[in-house]
Amino acid sequence: MKLNHKVAVITGGARGIGKAIGQTLAAEGAKLAVSDILADAAEATAAEFRENGTDAKAFTTDVADSADVQRLVKDVLAEFGQIDILVNNAGITRDNLLLRLKDTDWETVLAVNLTGTFNCIKAVARPMMKARSGKIINIASVVGVMGNAGQANYSASKGGVIALTKTAAKEFASRNINVNAVAPGYIITEMTERLPEEAREAFLKLIPFGRGGTPDDVARVVGFLASPDADYITGQTINVDGGMVM
Ligand code: NDP
Repeated sequence: MKLNHKVAVITGGARGIGKAIGQTLAAEGAKLAVSDILADAAEATAAEFRENGTDAKAFTTDVADSADVQRLVKDVLAEFGQIDILVNNAGITRDNLLLRLKDTDWETVLAVNLTGTFNCIKAVARPMMKARSGKIINIASVVGVMGNAGQANYSASKGGVIALTKTAAKEFASRNINVNAVAPGYIITEMTERLPEEAREAFLKLIPFGRGGTPDDVARVVGFLASPDADYITGQTINVDGGMVM
């Protein structure tokens, strides 16, 4: 197994893509810190992992709150002794056309998706730099590359995540830390189930494979980037989108 003895922190890890990422990393032997904003959801998912023989613990964290994130890193280090992998997966949408977007919709989405990613990278950087090793994987989105009507806040946040990935990759490479992003296209989760039918159909028309992706489609690529197979890859954004953007 490629991730034996490795400890992975997954934000927004209780459900959807984050939970699938946990399953993939656990299958390769990783121990899991399942972090989510809702305590009950995090605990239920961690308990499920433990039932399947994975060393997993739940942590309640709002990634938008830097003090909360610092506490998360401190608690994970106290519990597991190290952090080898960070997956910045927590993300939200508050969709509306730009002219109708409220200030709070803009601020909240930027706070969780972009500032949250920054908070977590900053908090794990020190222990990873000390260890001279680490893998950071940020979940962006293809709309961060191509833009999307109705998602000014979300696409700006995800474009920011891609730029942040490149800068962190440059700053941390000398300490043997890889920083990459995965940009999913249209993946079937609770997040996209909330989309109006027309928006889902519009996405499907753009996908050469003609279908939405699964959380596992994304998780397998994250598993690769977290493994030693990706040791010489950094600063990259890999689209997992059925060919939507090429
Ligand atoms: P979900 O909404 O299904 O899951 C997101 C998880 O993040 C939830 O458990 C949610 O908790 C948690 N979360 C929300 N806010 C915070 C916060 N402030 N701090 C910590 N955790 C939080 O989304 P997906 O699984 O679909 O998405 C996962 C990632 O993939 C996101 O970054 C998303 O932007 C990205 N993505 C998804 C795509 C898709 O098609 N599904 C496409 C492109 C990118 P709660 O239960 O409280 O909501």
